[in-house]
Amino acid sequence: MRESVRLSELTTLRVGGPALVAECGSTEALVATVRALDAAGVRVLLLAGGSNLLIDDAGFDGVVVRVGNAGVELGADSVLAEAGANWDEVVATTVAAGFGGLECLSGIPGSAGATPVQNVGAYGVEVAALLRRVRLLDRETGAARWAEPAELGFGYRTSVLKHRDDAVVLAVEFALDPTGASAPLRYGELAKVLGAGEGETRPAADVRTEVLRLRSGKGMVLDTADHDTWSAGSFFTNPVVSADRLPQVLAAIATHLGDAVKVPTYPAPEGTKLSAGWLIERAGFAKGFPDEQAAARLSTKHTLALTNRGTASAADIVALARTVRAGVLDRFGVTLEPEPVTVGLTL
Ligand SMILES: Cc1cc2nc3c(=O)[nH]c(=O)nc-3n(C[C@H](O)[C@H](O)[C@H](O)COP(=O)(O)OP(=O)(O)OC[C@H]3O[C@@H](n4cnc5c(N)ncnc54)[C@H](O)[C@@H]3O)c2cc1C
Repeated sequence: MRESVRLSELTTLRVGGPALVAECGSTEALVATVRALDAAGVRVLLLAGGSNLLIDDAGFDGVVVRVGNAGVELGADSVLAEAGANWDEVVATTVAAGFGGLECLSGIPGSAGATPVQNVGAYGVEVAALLRRVRLLDRETGAARWAEPAELGFGYRTSVLKHRDDAVVLAVEFALDPTGASAPLRYGELAKVLGAGEGETRPAADVRTEVLRLRSGKGMVLDTADHDTWSAGSFFTNPVVSADRLPQVLAAIATHLGDAVKVPTYPAPEGTKLSAGWLIERAGFAKGFPDEQAAARLSTKHTLALTNRGTASAADIVALARTVRAGVLDRFGVTLEPEPVTVGLTL
């Protein structure tokens, strides 16, 4: 146990006040700690890489349980990772061993165990597509069991595990391709740099290299020296607009940007997905908004990332998020939803 730890030291946005932190370096320690705290009725916040959390400046009134069990084991066509394993190291291990499947998810910060929580995705691949099973600790019964992906209610950047804390992910297992071929390339920009047609595959190692290069150019690979990466990645999810609301939204966009404007749209199960980054930029928030002096700014490389320039508080990040959200709502009638999990605060 460590007392009065500043959670800003444990989150990639580098904001968050003090809390009592329990470091759990093994699955046994993690299970025993969560069970004991639950039995005592103490509030628990699970924290692994801290790359998808926005925690209040007042800190957390309870115990922050750090998920630090980090074993990784390769099988004949799979990888089993304990929850606290560093995600990019898991991906790198599989690719170096000649397996394909996870390479499009290279360079995403955080832990293996958090990937099912928001169905982590990038460059046309989501973890739900490759996940074989998840070991869960049920906090109500205190029992651990393997769960099938079908039980987890995966959607775009969500699952039944997000915004709930009745289960702890202890380990995850992913199916891999032993031939070393990548997952089919579905993301145009990536397929293009690899000289591939959409849906074709390439050697996983080549895909990993290109993904890391593309991500770095957008400030989406952690780099202490680069404040554009002091973020939680994309701060807003891409909004999905229902079929009956879409004409209104498109009309509002045309009113502000002219009838000739080409709005990027993508089909989604519940309607039409719009690009949050495109809407933010078109609502008048350029990269780097508001200015060089601000403690919290939009990334200078990517409009969708809210960043800490070194001295920002959680309140500064929230104020910026509210400004951007209000601007997009006012112009286009679309409410953006935050992607990170907020603790002790709301937008
Ligand atoms: C620069 C940057 C780029 C990013 N790019 C992407 C991207 O391309 N795609 C994407 O999907 N995300 C992206 N993210 C977001 C983030 O990296 C992922 O959501 C990641 O999976 C979070 O892992 P973590 O270990 O840091 O989770 P944390 O931030 O520690 O926790 C996130 C949430 O999961 C819960 N949680 C953590 N561990 C467990 C567990 N073992 N069991 C149950 N609940 C748990 C926490 O309580 C919290 O609610 C990016 C973030 C950054 C900073």
